[in-house]
Amino acid sequence: MQAIVIGSGVAGIATAIRLSLKGYKVTVYEANSYPGGKLTVFEKNGYRFDAGPSLFTLPTLVEDVFRDAGENPEDHFQYIKKDTACHYFWKDGTELFALAEPAKFAESVEEVLGESKYKVMEHLDDVRLLYNKTKGLFLERSLHKVDTYLSSEVLSALGVVHKLHLTETMHEVAAKRFNSDKLIQLFDRFATYNGSSPYKAPGVLAMIPHLEHNIGTFLPKGGMHDITESLVSLAKRRGVAFSFGQKVEEIQVENKVATGVRLENGEVHTADLVVSNMDIVPTYRRLLPNEPAPEKTLMQERSSSALIFYWGVKREFDKLNLHNILFSSDYKKEFDEIFNRQVPPSDPTIYINITSKDVPNDAPDGCENWFVMVNVPSDQGQNWEDLIPKVRESVVKRVNAQFNVDMDALIEVEELLTPQLIESKTSSSGGALYGASSNDRFSAFLRHPNFSRKLKNLYFVGGSVHPGGGIPLCLLSAKIVGELVPEAT
Ligand SMILES: Cc1cc2nc3c(=O)[nH]c(=O)nc-3n(C[C@H](O)[C@H](O)[C@H](O)COP(=O)(O)OP(=O)(O)OC[C@H]3O[C@@H](n4cnc5c(N)ncnc54)[C@H](O)[C@@H]3O)c2cc1C
Repeated sequence: MQAIVIGSGVAGIATAIRLSLKGYKVTVYEANSYPGGKLTVFEKNGYRFDAGPSLFTLPTLVEDVFRDAGENPEDHFQYIKKDTACHYFWKDGTELFALAEPAKFAESVEEVLGESKYKVMEHLDDVRLLYNKTKGLFLERSLHKVDTYLSSEVLSALGVVHKLHLTETMHEVAAKRFNSDKLIQLFDRFATYNGSSPYKAPGVLAMIPHLEHNIGTFLPKGGMHDITESLVSLAKRRGVAFSFGQKVEEIQVENKVATGVRLENGEVHTADLVVSNMDIVPTYRRLLPNEPAPEKTLMQERSSSALIFYWGVKREFDKLNLHNILFSSDYKKEFDEIFNRQVPPSDPTIYINITSKDVPNDAPDGCENWFVMVNVPSDQGQNWEDLIPKVRESVVKRVNAQFNVDMDALIEVEELLTPQLIESKTSSSGGALYGASSNDRFSAFLRHPNFSRKLKNLYFVGGSVHPGGGIPLCLLSAKIVGELVPEAT
């Protein structure tokens, strides 16, 4: 039996592997000339840059794909565990080098920010419990199948219902526990891991720091793009065919059954099942124009997007690590600008990722490859040409002040990624990084299911559908679809 996957984002590749394990002959049609979607890479003048994701958590989900395919992950995919989670910088000169080990992190918080280490440990224990009790319901199974609600996972979540923070926002959870504004800001930041505002995202998402502070952060040995490369190689070993530079124009439907795809060049390819790894909004608007669309789901607010400045920097910075954050002075205003006013923040929090700290070949000797990211709204037709230079100017000014340097004199290579480019390169609606935002208590339930309720043999994976955006959740969407589809006969 034949299966077609539309798109080779991380979820599309993992789904192709999982369908091959179910006995399907799989073809992946990818619009770009390369695999990976957002999880891609480029090089310029001796600098290598991971173009999209930079934070790698839950590596076991990548390893699971190898294990489930009967291979030893270590033979094909290696990574390191970081001792340091993130280096944080505030404008008043406060610096917190957050170690990965929870007790050491708590001690440094007490020393630098004056918040009790016991309170920090108590918080990390609570978010561990929150994650462990809810992941089975919200992340690992289809939220849209009756079986899920009859499973032990529901009982597990109900057992801690008083700890799910059902009536609070993420910010309220942190603000209730801690006195230090800086520590509250640090925990609030995790709302951006799914492109949301801590002042709107539901309190249950306070679980996100569990991944970074209790389990840890990791880096593939050759950088993030190793994830794409190793999974594509596995897919090829399993006989998956990749057809690059082939844009799907339509999902073919007959009598409420998906029967294949029509490509931009007019070719029609039939299949017993079709999986779309394209963002759910254009999947309905462009590939299924004649089918009724789930408007409420498609109209959900998009997650934040980003402006990324890729800088080849001809100097090394001792204070910086793989992940670094330069916090803004007014976090509430920053999120108000992103989500309510839909403009880039006037005083942005700046994330700097430098893989050459751990992968020396990523930059020439004595130099560093900076991935400098600012959260901005998704593209709603803003005048980016006017806005981008202003953001760049405020980023350079802040970095200069923080580290007493002249960045413009140190940058010898520069590239840019914008919301519009993210959309044109990956079809992500508005260039959103994570599909819909989680700025609503019910957002988890509004995400599109991993299958079509109306069309037989049609499935959906990737950051815009259940369980959500980010590499780990995309891999889980592939796993859920792998479980939902029948064995090929
Ligand atoms: C700048 C940036 C930073 C991020 N940081 C992180 C991070 O640190 N950690 C993290 O976990 N996540 C991060 N994310 C989010 C993460 O990258 C995404 O959630 C994930 O990679 C999305 O994967 P996906 O499977 O949904 O597919 P995508 O990567 O969105 O790829 C979809 C693919 O489908 C193809 N396609 C679309 N339409 C068609 C069509 N009609 N025909 C054929 N092919 C088509 C596209 O060309 C593309 O290759 C970041 C994202 C960005 C952009």
